[in-house]
Amino acid sequence: MKNRHDNFFNERIKERQNLIKNLLYNGHIKTKPVEHAMVTVPREEFLPEQQKPYAYIDRPLPIGEGQTISAPHMVAILCEALSLKEGMKVMEIGTGFGYNAAVVAEIIGEKGELYSIERLKSLYMLANDNLKRINYSNVHLTLGDGTLGLPDDAPFDRIYLTAAAPSIPETLKIQLKVGGKILAPVGTVDQYQELILMEKVTQDVFKTSNLGGVAFVPLIGEHGW
Ligand code: SAM
Repeated sequence: MKNRHDNFFNERIKERQNLIKNLLYNGHIKTKPVEHAMVTVPREEFLPEQQKPYAYIDRPLPIGEGQTISAPHMVAILCEALSLKEGMKVMEIGTGFGYNAAVVAEIIGEKGELYSIERLKSLYMLANDNLKRINYSNVHLTLGDGTLGLPDDAPFDRIYLTAAAPSIPETLKIQLKVGGKILAPVGTVDQYQELILMEKVTQDVFKTSNLGGVAFVPLIGEHGW
């Protein structure tokens, strides 16, 4: 996927490199693939015009419809926790403007596939434009309720939610391969949750770890809020 961003890559590379340096220093980025992906993907291309100047400040930013693009450190934390590898088949719930999807697509490479679901049409359409403009052909977007997953495309190596659920939906756990991992913010709707990672050890046994406190917008849907 080298040079896919020739038109975008160099414009704000210094700002991007400085941000990534801080994420490495703070321990949010731990591995080369995550570092490479975050240095490569131009975050400003996944923001509304008025937010573009703030693309390299490490904080969530509004993208309309009361939703946000996650802060860069949170994207790094999610990617590291998922231990993504080249060629994996991944499902994301909550596309937003497509930034996290682009970072994951960069890590899993051209042989990998990312399926991402967004429930709000305006965001789904903008994410589609953003990802096409930068040539992420290994990302497949769906408009709909992500709490139902994509049974026809399952099973997945990894599943992650970028909106907070009351608990990790069973519908999604079923769509995970044995040996796979599912990651989600779990907790209340009022902006405080815990980041929960579950590894599917056998068809019905999961190993659960709590990765600490986070704040995400709510997951709205049949198996959400
Ligand atoms: N992944 C995004 C990024 O790159 O920064 C973050 C998106 S934002 C924190 C969470 C997104 O989840 C919102 O766009 C919201 O509309 C979406 N969402 C909430 N509930 C959903 C559901 N049931 N299915 C799909 N998307 C959902």
